[in-house]
Amino acid sequence: MHETSVAQRMVDTAIEVADQNGGGRVVGMSLLLGEMTCVEPDTLRFAFGVVSRGTRVEGCPLEIVRVPTRLRCRACGAERGGDLLELCACGMPGGEVLAGRELRLATIDIDEEAARPAGDQG
Ligand SMILES: [Zn+2]
Repeated sequence: MHETSVAQRMVDTAIEVADQNGGGRVVGMSLLLGEMTCVEPDTLRFAFGVVSRGTRVEGCPLEIVRVPTRLRCRACGAERGGDLLELCACGMPGGEVLAGRELRLATIDIDEEAARPAGDQG
């Protein structure tokens, strides 16, 4: 399943970032998800829960931000939403994709309190 490999990459990236920032738990993540990607948000959320189990990302709330498709017509330069199968007002199909292919982590929140070594408190 495509969503599983996407979720796996997200978890790997989050752990990497957590390691670079003191090794705490990951307590929040947000993902930009373009409408043109073939990733189903609910499926991704489920896959994320499965692959994060037993890691420092487990239980982390995942915010998924859908990014609407934006196209620019190659003939008349007009921008429009919708998908590549719809024609521009000038009759031209397709166009340059300005937005909608996003599939990337926007934010990763690390719990820095928990990153402190246990023996560091007294
Ligand atoms: Zn056009």
